Amino acid sequence: MTPTQQLAQWITESASTVFFGGAGVSTESGIPDFRSESGLYKAREVYGYPPEELLSHRFFKRHTELFFEYYRENLIARDAKPNAAHIALAKWEARGLMRAVVTQNIDGLHQAAGSENVLELHGSNWRQVCVKCRARYDLDYVLAQEGVPKCAACGGTVRPDVVLYGEQLDDRVVSAAVNAIAGAELLIVGGTSLAVYPAAGLLRYFTGERLVLVNKGETPYDSQAQLVIRDSIGVVLGEAHDYSTAGA
Ligand code: ZN
Repeated sequence: MTPTQQLAQWITESASTVFFGGAGVSTESGIPDFRSESGLYKAREVYGYPPEELLSHRFFKRHTELFFEYYRENLIARDAKPNAAHIALAKWEARGLMRAVVTQNIDGLHQAAGSENVLELHGSNWRQVCVKCRARYDLDYVLAQEGVPKCAACGGTVRPDVVLYGEQLDDRVVSAAVNAIAGAELLIVGGTSLAVYPAAGLLRYFTGERLVLVNKGETPYDSQAQLVIRDSIGVVLGEAHDYSTAGA
């Protein structure tokens, strides 16, 4: 049995499986990772600041125009499509084999693939909100404007409902993610090196039998996992889904 077949078998056996995903899940849909080496380089070269600064609450307040320039250019991929990983997770959920998807990504691709229980730790590009009157808008409203997007109702700045550096994660989302992970028998972690907050912290709540890590590189949790697959998350989940269907 290959590691991917093993994963498929565990998914079909488990009463409660949760997926926790990082940037690698999105990069396979062609969405660049601003934390990658080329992302870091581009931020400094083109904008003169590192991404953690450009995407901070302070920077948003002080340099709103440059914030939106960077955000529009580097964090929105309007036409990106779900990849094999998103699709496999949605199909498992539809069969009752995936309880929740916890994600650090803000691109909404899990929902686009059909997943319903998606816990977005860092918020979503698809929700935009006026900082003054809290009116809500969609992404296309913002994309139709140039520069700093303005609220049609009050003229306030419309910003993405995403968590910037220096801002708190949404308590309700964090609690739901903790509950999902704490209640999982099988936890599949994919597309993350588990080096960045809050990923590593959330993993502490897992007390289930089987931890599976799917990532191209090493992670600090490799030694604690029952299965480590160093490969593309799309390839692995896509194949595992095929096996899980064949065996069903
Ligand atoms: Zn407003």
